[in-house]
Amino acid sequence: MKPAEFRYHAPRSVEECVALLAEHGGEAKPLAGGQSLVPLMNLRLARPEALVDLGRVPGLDGIRVDAGVLEVGAMTRHADLASSELVAAACPLLADAAALIGYPAIRNRGTIGGSMAHADPAAELPCVAVTLDAEFVVAGPAGRRTVPAAEFFVDHFTCALAADEILTAVRWPVPSRAGGWGFREFARKAGDFAVAAVAVDMAVDVSASARRVRIGVAGVGGRPLRLAEAERALTGTRLRPDQLAWAGDAVAASLGDGVDRELVRTLAVRALSDALTRIGA
Ligand SMILES: Cc1cc2nc3c(=O)[nH]c(=O)nc-3n(C[C@H](O)[C@H](O)[C@H](O)COP(=O)(O)OP(=O)(O)OC[C@H]3O[C@@H](n4cnc5c(N)ncnc54)[C@H](O)[C@@H]3O)c2cc1C
Repeated sequence: MKPAEFRYHAPRSVEECVALLAEHGGEAKPLAGGQSLVPLMNLRLARPEALVDLGRVPGLDGIRVDAGVLEVGAMTRHADLASSELVAAACPLLADAAALIGYPAIRNRGTIGGSMAHADPAAELPCVAVTLDAEFVVAGPAGRRTVPAAEFFVDHFTCALAADEILTAVRWPVPSRAGGWGFREFARKAGDFAVAAVAVDMAVDVSASARRVRIGVAGVGGRPLRLAEAERALTGTRLRPDQLAWAGDAVAASLGDGVDRELVRTLAVRALSDALTRIGA
């Protein structure tokens, strides 16, 4: 099917984007890589009156590290995240997760901003954002504001952006203590959206006890979640990659009703094992 008729704008600044979105009073949509929006328009599940193309707006892409923060512009493609040496060094969990998104064609077009704004609860990048306490830089008619990841994702395909706001960048604090990470997901076939995914970021202290433990999970509700109860249970304990059954139990116990606990438990044990192996535990 073809999309319903729409107007097309190609603004050259963030301010112009915001003004155009405001002018259309909630009936216009930003266009990034088009990998989610265009199929929805083709199926007539989305019928925006206008598209505001972010592709020619300077300053919306690029990856930089400054003062302990990795900043990724909203128009940065998944493939660039997956192959960036800066991302691999500062935030390897993000690089690994980006490499698992869809197929090469999707990763070459799809953007980090589009993935976050689309807010699919099974998507990889929102899960990593919640796990690593990322911060979202948002531009709107009143200027810029920042939104913590814990508040950005609201429910299925719903985020904290207003209709006249755009996401300009995502900031990732670079941990001062190096650690290990793991990202595991289960999809019915390679390239499909994950049924569930688990992200782990951790560090150990000199006695090899787990210090920073962060566990995020995707595909188990309307938005990506942090498993705070399981994080508390694991912090301060000595974990070994081959003795993680009890840690898997702690993860399963911290999940809500109606979730495939066995699947998430298995993914969590594998992600924790990857993290510990990378630490050298
Ligand atoms: C076959 C297929 C398989 C896929 N598999 C996966 C997968 O495994 N994992 C996964 O996570 N995703 C997957 N995707 C989706 C893909 O990652 C998309 O790239 C992503 O969801 C949207 O990014 P985009 O840049 O294409 O955004 P678009 O499609 O252009 O936009 C998506 C939404 O975000 C809004 N938007 C975009 N950028 C901004 C911005 N900067 N500020 C405010 N709003 C904005 C748009 O208005 C729209 O509502 C798949 C898609 C396809 C077609």
